Amino acid sequence: MIKYNLKCKNHHEFESWFADSKEFEKLNKRKLLECIFCDSRIITKSIMAPMVSITKEKKNVEIQIRENVLLKEKQKLIKLRNYIEKNFEYVGKDFSKKVREIFYDKKNKNTIYGITSPDEREELKEEGIDLVSIPWVDKDN
Ligand SMILES: [Zn+2]
Repeated sequence: MIKYNLKCKNHHEFESWFADSKEFEKLNKRKLLECIFCDSRIITKSIMAPMVSITKEKKNVEIQIRENVLLKEKQKLIKLRNYIEKNFEYVGKDFSKKVREIFYDKKNKNTIYGITSPDEREELKEEGIDLVSIPWVDKDN
């Protein structure tokens, strides 16, 4: 819905709602619009009010779409989590120790995941070990 400020040839101004700008053009061409004050059918569009009304249904649809996107994102993260759990070795809080072992012993090709504190992460970074942190989502709910 679009709200237009309309003006008749006698300079009466009034507002009216239209489905879209095409609807306004169509009705006006057929002289179906008339001034609410003087019944003049010579109507022009003055400034369009910067306001768009979204019907309640449409709003609900939009919210649903947004939720679906979030759900899809979550599903992706769950997939990622499942992949990591399947293919990486969980080392928990030993992560920074283990990751050093891997980093300095190039033969060790283990892929691991675990937990680091921000401090540990900073230390590792200084040693040239860059880590990727992954948003860890709950699988349930
Ligand atoms: Zn008028």
